[in-house]
Amino acid sequence: MARYSEAVCRLCRREGTKLFLKGDRCFSPKCGIERRAYPPGQHGQGRARFSEYCVQLREKQKVKRMYGLLEKQFARTMDRASRMKGRAGENLLILLERRLDNVVFRMGFSTSRAEARQLVRHGHILINGRSATIPSIVVREGAVVSIAEKSRKIARIAGALETLEGRSVPQWLETDKDAFRGTVKAMPSREDVTMPIQEQLIVELYSR
Ligand code: SF4
Repeated sequence: MARYSEAVCRLCRREGTKLFLKGDRCFSPKCGIERRAYPPGQHGQGRARFSEYCVQLREKQKVKRMYGLLEKQFARTMDRASRMKGRAGENLLILLERRLDNVVFRMGFSTSRAEARQLVRHGHILINGRSATIPSIVVREGAVVSIAEKSRKIARIAGALETLEGRSVPQWLETDKDAFRGTVKAMPSREDVTMPIQEQLIVELYSR
C-alpha cells in the first residue's frame, strides 16, 4: 500500500495551518507550526505570489493531507461526490468524514487519523461486530464501531480514550468509552466539519 512517509509537520507548514497529523504533539509547544510558521524549504521565507490555480490547488492539498489520502484516492472520492445529489463540495467533505479511519479518530479511539488507519489495518476495529480492515469504508447511519475484545488493552487506545474529555466528539457520533464502542447516530452535515475549508475551490480545481 502506497503511503506518505516523510515528515508530516512539513505538510502543515506548507499549507500554513495546523492539520493535526501527529496526535498530542499538535497541542504542545513542539508543534512544527508553532516553532516555524513559514513554508518549508530554501525559499520558504521568501515572498510568495498566489495565482487562482495555486489557491485552488493548495485548498485541495490541505484537505487531502488532513484526511491522509493520496492523489488517486482523493480524485476518486471527488468523482463520487460529483455524481451524488446536492453540492459536490459538501458531498466530498461528508464522504471524507464518513470514512472508517476518520470515524475511529473522531470517536476518540486514536489521537490522529494516521493512528486510526493503523488500528483499522491491523484488525483492531469492528463494524457491527464484524472485523473491518479497510480504512476507506464509508460507514452508514446506525453503524456500531467498536474495538475488538483482544485489542482493548492496547496502551495507545487506552491513552487516546483517557484524553477524550479534552477533544469533542461530533454530534453525529456517540462514544461509550467504557464499552469501547461508538455509534453513528446520524449522517454528518457540512456544519460538522469545523476545520476552515473552502470546498468550492476544490470543486473549481477539478472542473478545470
Ligand atoms: Fe501539524 Fe501536528 Fe506537526 Fe503541528 S505537530 S505541524 S499540527 S502535524
